[in-house]
Amino acid sequence: MSAPASPFDWAPKLVSSFIDGAFVGEVGGYRIPTFYPGDGRIISELQEADALEVDRAVRSARRAFNDPAWRDMAVEARQSILYRIAETIEANALELATLETLNAGIVRRDVLGRQVLRAAYNFRFFAEAISQQPGQVWQQNKDYLTFVTRHPVGVAALIAPWNSPLALASMKVASAIAFGNTCVLKPSEQTPLSLARLVELINDITPPGVVNLVNGRGGVTGAALTEHPDIDLIAFTGGTETGRQIMQTAGRRLKPAAVELGGKSANIIFADADQERALDGALISIFSNNGQQCLAGSRILVEDSIFDDFVGRFVERAQKIRVGDPLDDATEIGPIASARHREHILSYVGVAQSQGASLLTGGHALDRPGYFVEPTAVLAPSNSDRVCQEEIFGPFAAFVKFRDMEDAIRMANESQFGLVGYCWTQNLDKALRVSQGVRTGLMWVNTPMVRELRAPFGGVKDSGLGRDGAAASMAFFTEEKTTTIPIADTTLRKFGV
Ligand code: NDP
Repeated sequence: MSAPASPFDWAPKLVSSFIDGAFVGEVGGYRIPTFYPGDGRIISELQEADALEVDRAVRSARRAFNDPAWRDMAVEARQSILYRIAETIEANALELATLETLNAGIVRRDVLGRQVLRAAYNFRFFAEAISQQPGQVWQQNKDYLTFVTRHPVGVAALIAPWNSPLALASMKVASAIAFGNTCVLKPSEQTPLSLARLVELINDITPPGVVNLVNGRGGVTGAALTEHPDIDLIAFTGGTETGRQIMQTAGRRLKPAAVELGGKSANIIFADADQERALDGALISIFSNNGQQCLAGSRILVEDSIFDDFVGRFVERAQKIRVGDPLDDATEIGPIASARHREHILSYVGVAQSQGASLLTGGHALDRPGYFVEPTAVLAPSNSDRVCQEEIFGPFAAFVKFRDMEDAIRMANESQFGLVGYCWTQNLDKALRVSQGVRTGLMWVNTPMVRELRAPFGGVKDSGLGRDGAAASMAFFTEEKTTTIPIADTTLRKFGV
């Protein structure tokens, strides 16, 4: 589609579920307004899917799964579908990026340069991964050959959060369908726009029913989906408390579930680090994606000998960050995704101060329409303060001082979360000790946020259960079957002779 006169013209008036190859259209029911966080205007309306509509979506996915043309498709044919989806995402990059910006408030230039490319890459990556998966054969027992085959699990419930819908949901859809499953995707009720368009584009390429979409509130549509008896597995990204509920549901129903949850990751900066690079990394890891990311380095631990200098330079740079219209290419940080979330972020200024923290910079909403927050940093007296322990999920950094490496590792580990960690040092021994000593799913040394899709991704402790990645996603989205066949003359015991 060529670009309309106004980016807002890309937003549909109504977003409905997409089931069995088509939008269901206007059927009435509960409606939820969708806002542009850049000025608070309503840009679209969401029609909530109730349990009956969710059931239709699951039945559509089941029909598509039961069709051998999909389930038993040759790997080359499946690869070709995944490559075509990647190309389609790239061909529609501006529209997808604009919808993401209008809805999530992420700066469009960044969505175009990162999230949309990442969404396309997710499909391309799994196209390549599925053609390279090795199998297992056991032949130590000379009389028998035992081999393992892998089979798609079935109908997947995929649940995505609002902070980075395209990048996160595309990973789930790509890995689910690459291994032959079908799915029902539920975006956050706050950010349905880019994913509704993505699912429509995917359906131009896949058979109907392979990728379905249901929209609505988590407690209504999301719960109906995860509770549905014909769902075979659940992949969820979102908050820790919702993750616990999902795991309870999955446990009750004995269904596999992978949950990627929150974080409060430590960013450890040693005196012997390349200071300029560490500063760039610290700013990126707390302020990119408007600060709303699970991977944020939101607890910045700095060695005491460089503390004042590092914090001073951080504050100077933070004050120069251009906060504004996410459709403007000059903007570095856009608005917070919702008014409610902005209040949640700002409430932590008072929380921090009540525990003795000092405000280093920011701490206020911008005096303009939209849900803008100044890039904020506080100096916390102790790592045990709430501002260092609770996920704020915004452009809000908490600084704490450490004495030496043991002190830094201890503080990094004093957290209920364990998603990622960052370490900045030129000393290899220190880098290795910190990376092995901090209990997280990932560690980045001297770099922020390099997402290597081939490697496992996921958290420990309250940051989640399960991993994404080439082998990890295959393990989750397929079931193993072991087959044993005699390859020599083997005699059998005879009963009843
Ligand atoms: P939520 O847990 O509130 O929601 C996530 C998704 O789950 C939404 O689609 C939501 O729907 C849905 N949902 C809510 N309740 C239920 C339920 N009872 N049953 C089924 N689905 C439900 O998280 P947020 O959307 O607020 O996302 C932010 C969180 O996500 C942060 O904690 C962040 O750290 C985490 N996150 C983790 C990542 C990781 O990879 N580890 C990556 C990105 C974010 P609705 O919104 O419509 O209510």
